[in-house]
Amino acid sequence: MYRSTTCGALRASNIDSEVILSGWVQKVRDKGFVVWVDLRDRYGITQLVLDQDRTAKDLLEKAKELGRETVIQVKGQVIERASKNANIPTGDIEVLVHELHILNESILPPFTIEDETDGGEDLRMKYRYLDIRRNPVKDNLIFRHKVTMEVRKYLSDQGFIEVETPYLIKSTPEGARDFLVPSRMNEGQFYALPQSPQTFKQLLMVGGMDKYFQIVKCFRDEDLRADRQPEFTQIDCEMAFVEQEDILNAFEGLTKHLLKEIHGLETGDFPRITFDEAMRRFGNDKPDIRFGMEFGELNTVAQHKEFNVFNTAELVAGIAVPGGASYTRKEIDKLIDWVKRPQVGAKGMVYVKCNDDGSFKSSVDKFYDQDDLSKWAEVTGAKAGDLICVLSGNTNETRSQLSALRMELAERLGLRKPDEFAPLWVIDFPLLELDEETGIYHAMHHPFTSPKPGQLQLLETEPGNVKANAYDLVLNGNEIGGGSIRIHDKDIQATMFKHLGFTPEEAKAQFGFLMDAFQYGAPPHGGIAFGLDRLVSILGGQETIRDFIAFPKNNSGRDVMIDAPANIDDDQLKELHLKLDLE
Ligand code: ASP
Repeated sequence: MYRSTTCGALRASNIDSEVILSGWVQKVRDKGFVVWVDLRDRYGITQLVLDQDRTAKDLLEKAKELGRETVIQVKGQVIERASKNANIPTGDIEVLVHELHILNESILPPFTIEDETDGGEDLRMKYRYLDIRRNPVKDNLIFRHKVTMEVRKYLSDQGFIEVETPYLIKSTPEGARDFLVPSRMNEGQFYALPQSPQTFKQLLMVGGMDKYFQIVKCFRDEDLRADRQPEFTQIDCEMAFVEQEDILNAFEGLTKHLLKEIHGLETGDFPRITFDEAMRRFGNDKPDIRFGMEFGELNTVAQHKEFNVFNTAELVAGIAVPGGASYTRKEIDKLIDWVKRPQVGAKGMVYVKCNDDGSFKSSVDKFYDQDDLSKWAEVTGAKAGDLICVLSGNTNETRSQLSALRMELAERLGLRKPDEFAPLWVIDFPLLELDEETGIYHAMHHPFTSPKPGQLQLLETEPGNVKANAYDLVLNGNEIGGGSIRIHDKDIQATMFKHLGFTPEEAKAQFGFLMDAFQYGAPPHGGIAFGLDRLVSILGGQETIRDFIAFPKNNSGRDVMIDAPANIDDDQLKELHLKLDLE
């Protein structure tokens, strides 16, 4: 028997009992006549003690020699500690060692295995198995397990069945590139790894499974973006005989359940806003509503004066920054530089200080009098002591710039509190999205999303204005879930493909299996998928998904621990009928 208990279990009530412990040596403190060893396992740390009076000499010497991260087994007696440590659960006791076996030596680890480590990110990724021994990483993985179990429990209790779908498939368009797998047995042909199980879950609905879920890996070959993983996990769900309302209720239920079980929070009904409203009020389709600073549109009150920058703008919009009137000239200049950075892209920023005495001081006093500025304050909801920041220009660009500014200021003002949770639904997304460069319309969600009832005919005349039966669940400024009611009619699906630029032949070649299936009594259906990695990190009060993944890839899509991707040898290439041309 390697152990009778764990390193996190022993308390004062265990004093006098004989125990066997196994674990890793975290630290040895050698005072000559007495040696203390911190022994660690997944459950905690237990202090071992050996001393001149009570321990055989060779055993004491052996303990002094122990190196960090050596794996040992000890037998001993639980005794009361002379100086207790209230910071750890086992702090009342220590184990007086009678026997010590070295199970495996360790070479010197490249960084200290402690909560505050001296190892940088790259080093910790290379030795991720050592990083996982540290509490912050270990606790995150355990937290993820807890969330995952709650998801399974809740959905299973609601009658959902977890069904696995294949990983070696044909392309499923979710807007990214596919990872491809060459087929050895079918020369010149490739599987694609799923960007999502979208088509399979719809086929499961045709198969009568009616309530499906799967915690599933998805693969998307996207260009470098911070905090994105090429493989990530979805809680993928689909239901038959449902309308949008049913889906929203079912998955609001799941989210409420998680907030309750994980954080003990009772959450009221989630607000619902349309995509158009989200863009108008927050400049963003995944608004963080933990704080205000909503947009005020100033066109009517700021245009038609002498200020040409505003007169020629499609949109003039501002936000009220709480307490911002106290910013110095220098601080405001820095803010203006910030919005002019290429990543944000504003040309400039107009500001108004709302003084405590009710007067206003703006950067455009030449053009606007106190009366004008008081209207701006009214529209943006600015109070005495606030700063109004105003951007202008093309509507979409101005909204996205002002949204970036709003988020940045909220971050600086500490308004994005990690232990506060503000979920909401964003609904009525546009069905199609215009690619400004190519002039081609793409499905905003995916090609299987149904238009809102009665909007199908608009596809011909005003494709950009067709609304979809699509929705996102947003939490703290992040899209944590998204889905839609699907098309379940073959002809409508064919029309949709036509509008997305597929010829009938192309549509048949790529999605014939789905349209065929629709001929055999496809029920009305819809669903949603949650990004599990993101959901877990937000629930964990953190923003980096890497910290909640056991073996993540770095920002260049590499696993630096196993060193993948890697070259393959010529024989393998030949077997796969592939030739590399790296010129
Ligand atoms: N397959 C979609 C996605 O990955 C989710 C859904 O529509 O259910 O975003």
